Amino acid sequence: MSNTSSDTAAVETLEWKVRIPKKRIKDKAWMDLKKRVIDTGLCSHCSACAFVCPVQGIISLPDRGIDFPDWEERCIDCEGCLRVCHRWEYTPLSDLGEYIELIAAKSKRFKGQDGAMVTEFMASALEMGIIDRAIFVGRDEEWRPKIYHIRSVEQLRDTRISGTKYSYASVLPELKEAIRVTKKGIGVVGTPCIVTGLRKIQKEFKIFKDKVKLVVGLFCMENFYYDQLRAYLEKKGVDMRKLVKMDITRGKFIATMPDSEISFPVKEMDEIVPHGCERCTDFTDVLADVSVGSVGSKVGYSTVVVRTEIGKEILDYIREKRYAEFSNVIPDVIDKLIKLKKKRIKNIPGEYLTVAYKKDTEK
Ligand SMILES: Cc1cc2nc3c(=O)[nH]c(=O)nc-3n(C[C@H](O)[C@H](O)[C@H](O)COP(=O)(O)OP(=O)(O)OC[C@H]3O[C@@H](n4cnc5c(N)ncnc54)[C@H](O)[C@@H]3O)c2cc1C
Repeated sequence: MSNTSSDTAAVETLEWKVRIPKKRIKDKAWMDLKKRVIDTGLCSHCSACAFVCPVQGIISLPDRGIDFPDWEERCIDCEGCLRVCHRWEYTPLSDLGEYIELIAAKSKRFKGQDGAMVTEFMASALEMGIIDRAIFVGRDEEWRPKIYHIRSVEQLRDTRISGTKYSYASVLPELKEAIRVTKKGIGVVGTPCIVTGLRKIQKEFKIFKDKVKLVVGLFCMENFYYDQLRAYLEKKGVDMRKLVKMDITRGKFIATMPDSEISFPVKEMDEIVPHGCERCTDFTDVLADVSVGSVGSKVGYSTVVVRTEIGKEILDYIREKRYAEFSNVIPDVIDKLIKLKKKRIKNIPGEYLTVAYKKDTEK
């Protein structure tokens, strides 16, 4: 990239200078992004554009898609949003991806959605001194996603921080603050769209490549806008304030409350699956250092895909400290879900896909 100042200075002053993208349509950059990615339903809601935009706090992350209301007056046409958008030129990812180890595991120290291995990996990375801060998606009393900057293992015992929230969360915009204060490095947890957006940011800005030391990805079939999910669940009789856990398992959405459980086929929720999710094929979060999911292992365990050396180093530490119990995975089940997600991809206009992907699907 063509930064004239150092990356660190860029972060501090929020001045981002980026290369001119190859394909410009017309108008200001934001309008290009809107026409090509947002209006076509390709936007994954990863929030990388909100992260990079120097007109701070202007790209809003309301619950119905990314928007920049006053773009005509306020967009400074820096083109940062185009450079970090992973769907501007879209290569859908898929399959199990590269990995060093594939195992089922359950943390002995933490409680989580499944085997709490996401929490365990981050806690161990903090203990090992690889990172001094991790960005987690916790929740408020009504299960609205809330970002937490975790700095100690103790903070991770809060059950509002662990567990799955089936709503989009603005993880990437938090990176700027985290990078400014970290000394050792940052850990990030995210769904495949967040992780793909993060990798794009890391390509553009070296400081994020250097400082984000651990990326734990989540398996993901789909996500929802909080307002829509809440309205849907309330219609089914769920009281968000009493909710203890949400889960999607064996084709069912299960809402657990202290004295009752409400469940229904997840297929019924198709009408509120955002368009961006319908265009995603990445079930296992292939760009993460470690991916964690629930399918493929027995109840109470997490399926863990260790992809990189840093992930392996942390897994070895967890083993050495006996922080987890281990078991085998059932790869066929993971494979089934990978294929299902790939199969249901909805019409992506051909001109938006990269040549590499077109060749792959023609096979
Ligand atoms: C939207 C969504 C859909 C999913 N779909 C599937 C699926 O179809 N099949 C499957 O096997 N697994 C799916 N998962 C993953 C699964 O629900 C568990 O998160 C995973 O098994 C890890 O469990 P754990 O006990 O190790 O995690 P924990 O130790 O409980 O940690 C989970 C962490 O995930 C993060 N998180 C929670 N919600 C979000 C969110 N909305 N956005 C970003 N980060 C978040 C939080 O930081 C949280 O601490 C999905 C997760 C999400 C968020």
